[in-house]
Amino acid sequence: MHLDDLEILARVSISEEKEELIANNDGEPQSEISHILSEYILDRSQYEKVSSLLLDEMEHGLSKEHNVSAAVKMFPTYVRSLPDGSERGDFLALDLGGTNFRVLAITLNGLKVEMKNKIYPIAPEIMTGKATQLFDHIASCIDNFMAENGLSGQKLPLGFTFSFPCKQEGLAVGRLVRWTKGFKCEGVEGEDVVTMLHEAIKRKGLGVECVALINDTVGCLMSCAFHDHNTQVGVILGTGTNACYMEHLDRVGTWDDDTEEPKQVIINTEWGAFGDNGCLDFIRTKVDRDIDATSLNPGKQLYEKMISGMYMGEIVRMIAVECAEKGLLFNGQVTPELAQRERFYTKFVSEIEEDNNEEEGYPKVRQVLDELGLVNVTTEDCRILKHICSVVSTRAAYLASTELTVAVDGSLYRFHPHFHDLMFCMRLSEDGSGKGAALVAAVANRLRSRSAQLVFVFKLMLSEDGSGKGAALVAAVAYRMKLMSPH
Ligand code: ADP
Ligand code: MG
Repeated sequence: MHLDDLEILARVSISEEKEELIANNDGEPQSEISHILSEYILDRSQYEKVSSLLLDEMEHGLSKEHNVSAAVKMFPTYVRSLPDGSERGDFLALDLGGTNFRVLAITLNGLKVEMKNKIYPIAPEIMTGKATQLFDHIASCIDNFMAENGLSGQKLPLGFTFSFPCKQEGLAVGRLVRWTKGFKCEGVEGEDVVTMLHEAIKRKGLGVECVALINDTVGCLMSCAFHDHNTQVGVILGTGTNACYMEHLDRVGTWDDDTEEPKQVIINTEWGAFGDNGCLDFIRTKVDRDIDATSLNPGKQLYEKMISGMYMGEIVRMIAVECAEKGLLFNGQVTPELAQRERFYTKFVSEIEEDNNEEEGYPKVRQVLDELGLVNVTTEDCRILKHICSVVSTRAAYLASTELTVAVDGSLYRFHPHFHDLMFCMRLSEDGSGKGAALVAAVANRLRSRSAQLVFVFKLMLSEDGSGKGAALVAAVAYRMKLMSPH
């Protein structure tokens, strides 16, 4: 994969079908509401501008000269190969990066993968507390998990999926650039998180060694590539959003390691930070600005805040509150629940958009509204709220699909009823053999002929538990290399 290829793909990603969907969003339930929503309904040229800005930003991030000032950092991950199915062994994995923290035990044996995992809650005090508290908690969870699974005392290699922007200095060395997604632990930014993990593991007296640090996009890519070797890009749409892809070494100006075969490396784009230099201000709304201003990381992750699961419900809530305050919705009611920040969960957006039962007055929408303490709601209220949800999720899906996307993971993507379809509006070309180069050539050709029929250029494959499996795959490769190394 190559940025130029991505560019060709991005240029066609606003298909004519999408344009129709954009236009459809203009159906007017009520004109004042339409006016409020109009800033969320972007036109084709705005989406095209976003797409080309993102590609420019990615180029900047790759360049040695511009990386320092780039918002999209394009970190080389030191993962140089995709799995080939020969990976074997027993591994532990940690998945830390947003909503749930998990410990996993994974056995790789050819294409057979066995996994056990347990979710461990992380209390808000720990998420915003001290570094040692967080890492000691992680070590305790590893200890507990090993004991429960009869693994105590074993010296297992561990893959650490740590899904926050890290500048890696090796496969198992990475400094946290900054916390995102609701974490703000003192004393970690600027430090190597693997060292901190090892210190905590030592304090607990465990014999576990972290051999690879990855993020969830890399895990997602690795685990899909394991099943489909053509997979080149991993995208996360969960608590946050991010993407990674395999890039040629000679295009990575910031690369400082060996240039032996394979001359490629997975780039962690950290595209959630797209817009942090102000380039997306032309589409950001009052609500987008408000959500950013009250977040734990103001001015950061602006693209992520328009798209991902941590923020989407809140965008809908704020629009609904504005409509209610103007007497356009819920007969003017703003209940304490509706007024509460982050109380409108993103899963509500899915539940509301899934409800097509107009005859019975939208029972599922009513269930959500009931949970928010709203009484005497009308069918029209439900219809309007559903419309607000669809405008907000459509904007998110279109913004997220300005790139080529192949392997995708995250609950927002998994459970939202239309996200997949919205991101994925093109059709598979009959002759598209699935080989990247052939597809790109086909698209370029089709673009030249300006045919209205667009070629399908990417396939979205849901990565089943990539964060765990992918960490084990990277750990397997790292562990094998370590065993082979003469040192
Ligand atoms: P993470 O990204 O932390 O690994 P997930 O992939 O599970 O976690 O994504 C969590 C995010 O997905 C949360 O922000 C949550 O609001 C959102 N989410 C959970 N369930 C749904 C759903 N049914 N529909 C849409 N979004 C959901
Ligand atoms: Mg995840």
